[in-house]
Parts: sequence; C-alpha cells; structure tokens
Amino acid sequence: MANDQTSQTNDQVSRANDQSDQAIESYLIDMNGVLVQDEQLLPGAEEFIAWLRATGRRFVVLTSDSVYTQRDLAARLARSGLDIPAEAIWTSAVATAQFLAQQRPEGTAYTLGEAGLTAALHEVGYILSERDPDYVVLGETRAYSLERLTLAIRLIAGGARFIATNPEPTGLSQQGLQPGTGAVAALISRATGIEPYIVGKPNPFMMRSALRAIGAHSASTVLIGDRMDTDIVAGIEAGMQTILVLSGVDQRETLDRFPYMPSRVVNSVADLVDTADPASDPASGTSRRRRRARKTDQDHSQP
Ligand SMILES: [Mg+2]
Repeated sequence: MANDQTSQTNDQVSRANDQSDQAIESYLIDMNGVLVQDEQLLPGAEEFIAWLRATGRRFVVLTSDSVYTQRDLAARLARSGLDIPAEAIWTSAVATAQFLAQQRPEGTAYTLGEAGLTAALHEVGYILSERDPDYVVLGETRAYSLERLTLAIRLIAGGARFIATNPEPTGLSQQGLQPGTGAVAALISRATGIEPYIVGKPNPFMMRSALRAIGAHSASTVLIGDRMDTDIVAGIEAGMQTILVLSGVDQRETLDRFPYMPSRVVNSVADLVDTADPASDPASGTSRRRRRARKTDQDHSQP
C-alpha cells in the first residue's frame, strides 16, 4: 500500500476516535458474530453483558434474523448462557413492523416469512391478508413455497408495495449455505421489475428505531458489530460511534477496502471489559485498555 494511503487511513481512524469524547450511555450490539456464533458464546460475551448491567448502561441486541420472535431469541440466548430479556432484542422483523405501522397504521400485508415476522406485524395492529394487501413483506424463511412466491409476485405486480426485512443474499445453517432474504427478493424483483424497500441493516431506520426503543440518543451510543457493510456503515449513518469486532465476518485484512472506518477495532467484546476498572468506559475511556485498543485500531492499516 502507498504510504500516503496508509497515513490517510491513520488520520481517518484518529478522527473517528476524536468523536469519542462524548460520554457513552447506551450500546447497540449486533448478535451474531459479536455475542454468539451458531449458538456458541463468543469470548467475553457474558462478561460484557454483566459489565453493562453492573454499570447501569442501556443496551439493545440487534439481529437481521426475522425468523424468530424476540421471546424465541431470548430463550435461545439463555440456552447459550446469555440472560437477555426479550424487550432488549431488536430484530429486522420488529423494525419492519414499526416502519409499516408508522407509514400506514393498521394496514394489511401478505407475508413470506416465519413467526418472527407475522408476530411482529400482529403486534403493531397489522392484518395479514392475501387479498389486495397494502404490502407484500418478505422475511427469512426455511420453507419458501413456489405457490406463496407466485402469489407474492402477482400481488406486487397488481400494486402491493414490496418490503423486505433484510438484504442478506445467503444465510448459514448447520448444513451450509442457504438462500437468504436478498436472494429470494431478487427472484421476485426479476419477475416483477420492482425492487423491495429494505428496512433492516444497513438502513439506518433499524438503528434509529432500536435507539428509540430504549430512549437512547445516537451521540451517546456505540454500535458494536462484526460487519463493515451492514453494521458499521449503518452506525455511522445513524450518527453513532462504532466498534468493529473481529470475532465474526470481517477481518483486519479487509478493512482498507471500505470507504468508511469504525471508531475502533477490537478482537472481541472481551477487549471491551476492563475488569480492573469497572467504571471505565470501553468506548471513550482512557484506561490502559483504551491505549492498547488505539494500537489495535491502527495496526490494521500497516502494510
Ligand atoms: Mg453480525
């Protein structure tokens, strides 16, 4: 890499760090790749959540997953060893339901998705209908049926607005890759010539609605995520400080490809817990751990 590019990257990182003078009160934490992976706890997850509780900080756990309800996810996290209440979990399905309720209160929708999506829509007063719905809402499902896809295509061609919960082209199952919401959306778009409006990450609506849910403000909130192209960009666009963890999708080598930078890069949330100083702030503190993280921040831009 050219030297000027390296120093430019370092400048970007230090500028991003300079924003961190604002005291941090709240955390938006991506779930997969940050706290858990395949239902296994990632390093420091338990300690980090305990630290947030002990220091009275508000937090929300975010996920693009629209398959499960908030209660389902709370139960799954509990089985993995994390005690997080259902109200502190914010899914793309819940964000989508809020978006629709704001845009068109008590509307109607035809859904391609699982309980996480239908429950969220019912919760905001939506009626599910196959006849002339206001919206066709596509989420993640394990059982796409050609019959339901065909009906969705006909409804959209007939004027229903096309909404998708999240853009991921693939998902991961125990057996390997599977088509994600984005791939199925492409099928419908190809057939209708109409692109979906996507509510989940990286749409800042997902972040802003989660902030509202806990009464938090973007200027005093940190977003922690494992993906540059969904988590970090959405955090930046919503006006938050951002921390990239390397325990999930993105690795140090890939960071320089992106036109935006996180405020900090750490190996995992374990690096955010300073047990020696429970009152320290992992996002804006000046503890020794902070200095170490600054070093970590800059390491990635070295050739
Ligand atoms: Mg993730």
